[in-house]
Amino acid sequence: MSLRIVVCVKYVPDATGDRHFAEDLTVDRDDVDGLLSELDEYAVEQALQIADEADDAEITVLTVGPEDAKDALRKALSMGADKAVHVEDDDLHGTDVLGTSLVLAKAVEKTGYDLVICGMASTDGSMGVLPALLAERLGVPQVTLLSEVSVEDGTVKGRRDGDTATEQLEASLPAVVSVTDQSGEARYPSFKGIMAAKKKPVTSWDLDDLEIDGDEVGLDGAWTAVDSATERPARTAGTIVKDEGEGGKQLAEFLAGQKFI
Ligand SMILES: Cc1cc2nc3c(=O)[nH]c(=O)nc-3n(C[C@H](O)[C@H](O)[C@H](O)COP(=O)(O)OP(=O)(O)OC[C@H]3O[C@@H](n4cnc5c(N)ncnc54)[C@H](O)[C@@H]3O)c2cc1C
Repeated sequence: MSLRIVVCVKYVPDATGDRHFAEDLTVDRDDVDGLLSELDEYAVEQALQIADEADDAEITVLTVGPEDAKDALRKALSMGADKAVHVEDDDLHGTDVLGTSLVLAKAVEKTGYDLVICGMASTDGSMGVLPALLAERLGVPQVTLLSEVSVEDGTVKGRRDGDTATEQLEASLPAVVSVTDQSGEARYPSFKGIMAAKKKPVTSWDLDDLEIDGDEVGLDGAWTAVDSATERPARTAGTIVKDEGEGGKQLAEFLAGQKFI
């Protein structure tokens, strides 16, 4: 039987763009370019490697996000994933991580899965908790923050490198894993891959399709709220030390003044 892998990928605002909050203190996703969260490219890469090793495997990439989030799906498809699911609904505006985990869990169940692979954290919210919430909602084991991952005989195995120890972990499928940026360089899409991705199926679902009530998500359903946000002050010009014989001394005084030395 085919190994069904679902990779959760997030469409995030480009960190090099001018990012800001909207009036309701949610992230303004309309005004800034987005892309597939870099850390999720590692998850796609691991899915592709696991699929290569399996007799028969199918990779679905899944995102919850606005219309433009399809770009993230296309990128994952061009890397080699087989098909994509996009969950989009106006009522999702302001959904927090708990709501996102609910939507992803319903979408994963509807897709059908043996293994869910997530990134270690998104590059915008960067909470790093979604994989654990998702596993809890699905009622399956979670093996998170893996630097190495493989699947054999209905079991997912992996290595987690911590500050004080390296752990070898395993769980029976179905399971949720997350992989780190140490798990192996993500491949670049080839020209052939980019062309092939245009023909791969992308299914769109809204909240009704997933039998989720609008009240469970969005700003009203959120368990967390942003009370206030202050824009980071513009950078000021730095201090230039001219060396006219006293440069070293002035530098030392500056560093001491900043308590660096
Ligand atoms: C339209 C929209 C509006 C939102 N508005 C708000 C808001 O106002 N306030 C708020 O707190 N949150 C909001 N969210 C949710 C937020 O952007 C995050 O998706 C959610 O909080 C997860 O937190 P994180 O990104 O820190 O996840 P992490 O725990 O850091 O993510 C870990 C991994 O989970 C997976 N993942 C995370 N998010 C998604 C996703 N959306 N789709 C697929 N996979 C994912 C990825 O594999 C990722 O690497 C919104 C989301 C959407 C789609």
